[in-house]
Amino acid sequence: MAVGWAGDNAVNEQIEDSINDEITRARQNVPSGESLEYCEECGEEIPEARRKALPGVRLCISCQEEFDRRHKAVSLYNRRGSKDSQLK
Ligand SMILES: [Zn+2]
Repeated sequence: MAVGWAGDNAVNEQIEDSINDEITRARQNVPSGESLEYCEECGEEIPEARRKALPGVRLCISCQEEFDRRHKAVSLYNRRGSKDSQLK
């Protein structure tokens, strides 16, 4: 029964993660947004060239890659979910 609770929590965390991703993505889509000098995730300095190239950038390159990977995983998860509901 403890496993059931852990599963519920995992689902909740996944939902919160996707919401956070959406917020981060929405912020990154604002062209006039202020670029961060230091990465929001790891505190690494973001190169000036990257900040100029991507207005409103908030993540360093490695964290952005990690973010993209996670976002891709969420999209795949959602696609699988909608397929299941179509079958039902
Ligand atoms: Zn970083």
